[in-house]
Amino acid sequence: MEKSGSSNIDFEKLREIAGNCKRVLLKLPDGLYSLSTEISDFLSSIGVESIISANSCYGACDFCDGIEGMEVDRIIYVGEAEMPYLRKKYPVRTSFLEIESKFDAAGTVEKALPLLEGKRIGVVSITPYIHQMGKCIKILEGNNFIPVVGKKSRRTSYDGQILGCDLTAGTSISGKVDSFLYVGDGLFHPLGLSLSTKKPVVVADPSQNMAMKDEIREMRQKFMKIRYAMISNSMGKNRMGIIIGEKLGQKRVELAYEMKKLAEEKGMEAYIISSNNLSPDRIDYMALDFYVSTSCPRIAIDDYSNYKKPLLTPIEFEILTGEREWENYEFDQIL
Ligand code: SF4
Repeated sequence: MEKSGSSNIDFEKLREIAGNCKRVLLKLPDGLYSLSTEISDFLSSIGVESIISANSCYGACDFCDGIEGMEVDRIIYVGEAEMPYLRKKYPVRTSFLEIESKFDAAGTVEKALPLLEGKRIGVVSITPYIHQMGKCIKILEGNNFIPVVGKKSRRTSYDGQILGCDLTAGTSISGKVDSFLYVGDGLFHPLGLSLSTKKPVVVADPSQNMAMKDEIREMRQKFMKIRYAMISNSMGKNRMGIIIGEKLGQKRVELAYEMKKLAEEKGMEAYIISSNNLSPDRIDYMALDFYVSTSCPRIAIDDYSNYKKPLLTPIEFEILTGEREWENYEFDQIL
C-alpha cells in the first residue's frame, strides 16, 4: 500500500477492481478529492479510462449521480466502506476503495484512557480508522478495561463501525457498557452517540492527536437548546414541506408519507419535495412555513443555520405535533 498525503491508497486493490474495465466513474468525497488525479493517473497506466465526478458526494449513501450516458462499466467510490443493503440497487457495478487514514490511532487512545468512565467500554469507529480497532482494543485490555464491540448493521461493513446516520454498533451495546470510546475525527458521530445512548463518550481523534470528553457533553447541551428552539419556532405554523433525499441511501419515501399523513391529521398542509442536493436557494422562497427533512439527518442538524425557515427531523416533527414527548427526544437515524 502506498502513502498519499494523509491517506493510504491501495493501488493493488484498485488494480483488482478496475483491471477489466474500459471506463470507470470515480466518486470521491470532498476530503479525498485531492487524490482524484493520482488515482486517475494510476488507472490510465493500467489502460483504464476514468471520469472524475465533481458532483457533491457525502458518503457511501451517495454515489450514483451522473452516470447516464457516460458509458462507464463500473463506479469506483473512493473513501468509505460499502453500505451492503444497497447492493441490489446499484445502477452499474460498483466497488468501494476504502481509504485508511495514516494517522496512528494507538497513541491517541493512550491519551483517552484517563477520560474513560467505568470498566466496560464500548468501542466504535469510522471507516478510515476501523482497521486500527484491533490495536485500540489491545490497548484497552492492557489497561484492564473490558472492550465491547457492537455488531455491524445492514448499512455498515464492519463490527464497531458507525455512521452519522446509523449508530447501531453503539446503541446495540449501550446497556452493556459504562462509557464509549469513539476513535475517529469529527464531532457529529460522537454527538449522535452521546444523544442516542446517554452514556459518556470519549473521543480519541488521531488526526488531531487529542482526546476529549467534556466537549461532547457541552455540545450535547447546546444541541438540545438549538433543537428545542427549532421546534418552538415551528409551533402554530400550518404549511410545511417534507423533504425526500434523492440519493440512493438517503431516500425515505415511506417515512415522508407517514409525516404527511400525520401533518394532515393535525390539520396542516404538507407538500412533498424531492431534492438531490438541498439548498436554501430553492426552499427559502417557497410559500411554506417550515420543513421536515427525511433525507440525510445531517441536513437538519448541521445545516439548519443556512436556511431562513425551521428545518426539523422527523422525530422533532413528532414532538411538534404532540405525538412524542420532548423527554423522549431521539437522534434521527436511517436504519
Ligand atoms: S445519509 Fe448522511 S450521515 Fe448517513 S452516510 Fe449518508 S451522508 Fe453520511
